[in-house]
Amino acid sequence: MPRVHNFGAGPAMLPEPVLQQAAAEMLDWHGSGMSVMEMSHRGKEFIAIHAQAEADLRELLSIPKNYKVLFLQGGAAAQFAVVPLNLLRGKDRADYALTGYWSKRAIAEARRYCKVNIAASSEDGKFSYAPAQDKWKLDPGAAYVHMTSNETIDGVEFHWVPETGDVPLVADASSHILSRPLDVGRFGLIYAGAQKNIGPAGLTIVIVREDLTGQADPHTPSVFDYKVQAEADSMTNTPATYAIYIAGLVFQWLKQLGGLARMEELNVAKAKLLYDYFDQTEFYYSPVAKSDRSRMNVPFRLRNDKLDTEFLKQAESAGLTQLKGHRAVGGMRASIYNAMPLSGVQALLDFMRQFERKHG
Ligand SMILES: *Cc1c(COP(=O)(O)O)cnc(C)c1O
Repeated sequence: MPRVHNFGAGPAMLPEPVLQQAAAEMLDWHGSGMSVMEMSHRGKEFIAIHAQAEADLRELLSIPKNYKVLFLQGGAAAQFAVVPLNLLRGKDRADYALTGYWSKRAIAEARRYCKVNIAASSEDGKFSYAPAQDKWKLDPGAAYVHMTSNETIDGVEFHWVPETGDVPLVADASSHILSRPLDVGRFGLIYAGAQKNIGPAGLTIVIVREDLTGQADPHTPSVFDYKVQAEADSMTNTPATYAIYIAGLVFQWLKQLGGLARMEELNVAKAKLLYDYFDQTEFYYSPVAKSDRSRMNVPFRLRNDKLDTEFLKQAESAGLTQLKGHRAVGGMRASIYNAMPLSGVQALLDFMRQFERKHG
């Protein structure tokens, strides 16, 4: 069976050279006589893998020295609770931008820990756009401002960074981290589950400004206390060793490709193929405002939704998989993360044109 074009939102496809290298090193990593899965997380081999992964991530994102990089578990969903536990720092409230399915989930979880002020919302437009800066109502007494910088399900991406003054900005960047350069210094904290654009599920990356750590709520589990984990090099407990190794291979792959500026060019070109088509056909459409369309997650709809099932069935037979939109919103969605080559997007476009000719 040839490899399919996998448009899944996450766990998502990985770069083929990374999978090949992992396969080649499966039984014997660099002459250690062991698989990475079998290594002690405290042994010199794994410590080297871990340190290299962190160094490469720091280089790719130009992470300033006063930021800690943590390799945690629990997914982005754990961070929905872990962020307030660590960042409230004695305050009773936080600002949240409500821009889609994932920010809604983050808000519901935060409400268990503090008062949530909805500082900005696009609910009135069914989460089809990113609220402009002048619409944000920030509370200077908030402990932090939380945003979902790319809404994976709704397909809305912030192509700019909100200004939040002295209040630290926190971003759930799960589905677009490493897709473009990022000015980390504008954020207090950035977190991302790995299974979208980094590596396998089971690893969650947290990049946190050092001065924001060390004041966690006393009930915070130690494994979720940023300061405790930072001091232990993310090894207060056993980290997701194999997932960290694969993420490290992905970072190397990104560096070889030319880094995030180059990756951004490729991602812009890929997304443009699809959005340009939606803007000229009557058969499909994008529900997202032009200025805020995600380069990573591209939701689209057929004007005649009675054809949805047939579309998905024929796409599947053409080797184009996981195009069904999230059950919360319906329609279709093509996730085209870093690992998706231009040729995969071209194959989808060719299929869509052909389907339109047959059924339009
Ligand atoms: C997938 C996703 C999550 C949830 O990630 P889990 O690893 O399942 O916890 C949260 N936020 C965003 C933006 C996502 O794309």
